[in-house]
Amino acid sequence: MRAPMCSFCRIVEGILPAARVGETAHSLAIRDIDPHAPTHVLVLPKRHLQHIAELVEEPEELADLFRLAADVAADEGLERGYRIVTNTGSEGGQTVYHAHLHLFGGRRMVWPPG
Ligand code: 5GP
Ligand code: ZN
Repeated sequence: MRAPMCSFCRIVEGILPAARVGETAHSLAIRDIDPHAPTHVLVLPKRHLQHIAELVEEPEELADLFRLAADVAADEGLERGYRIVTNTGSEGGQTVYHAHLHLFGGRRMVWPPG
């Protein structure tokens, strides 16, 4: 039996709606449904992987993901800077187990993050 599709796979397939802001053959960028900055975009591989670490075996896809994040940052006018975060596992604060980058911008970020 096939496992049920995760929510980000449903977004990739167009079954669940999302505000799409960029796309490549391998990656998709959508606005976070609960934004924590003026720009809060999620950049995800189109195929299902639980954690970003699984992409180390796929350098082209990994580079594609970061390229799309940088392109979205440029499109959003974030020339003064931005932050990319990837929460990994429960202690890392991950809640959706389909690998993704968070792209934050449009305000000054605080350090260290919580
Ligand atoms: P995580 O907690 O795994 O690092 O990040 C998951 C992010 O996905 C959260 O910031 C959450 O607001 C966002 N999110 C969860 N479900 C949806 C959804 O259905 N659509 C969109 N656009 N964002 C979602
Ligand atoms: Zn998925």
